[in-house]
Amino acid sequence: MGGETCTVCSEAVSKYKCPTCRAGYCSVKCFKLHKLEPCAPPDHSTPAAAPNKDRILKQSEQERIGGDDEEEEKHRLTPSDLQKLDESAQVKQLLMNPNTRALLEIVRKDPNPVEAIRALRQRPDFEELAQALIGATDYNG
Ligand SMILES: [Zn+2]
Ligand SMILES: [Zn+2]
Repeated sequence: MGGETCTVCSEAVSKYKCPTCRAGYCSVKCFKLHKLEPCAPPDHSTPAAAPNKDRILKQSEQERIGGDDEEEEKHRLTPSDLQKLDESAQVKQLLMNPNTRALLEIVRKDPNPVEAIRALRQRPDFEELAQALIGATDYNG
């Protein structure tokens, strides 16, 4: 470092650099002369804003995708849905029914509950329970 010439007088070796534009100067006198004209940081005007904008766009895109996930989440049972099931008088009544409890026990004990439910849905009494459960989660609010 130190071979550069003063950008103001072009005679002496520049010992210092302008904190704003990084232009070298040799003395306070030259610095004051340099400061007579406004200067700007050398990389201030480079297109650094463009990739930033892209990043923001991508971010909002991700937020949109995240929103879709949330939308899908609504179709699953949430704790509040389970709360609604708990509060549903119809469901409660059905759960008081030993037949309903037996049906649920079949599902619970089956190694393949999905298949068990599919088979049970052929039975009108199970279908009644299924409709009650669906009704309690979807229309109780
Ligand atoms: Zn100078
Ligand atoms: Zn400067």
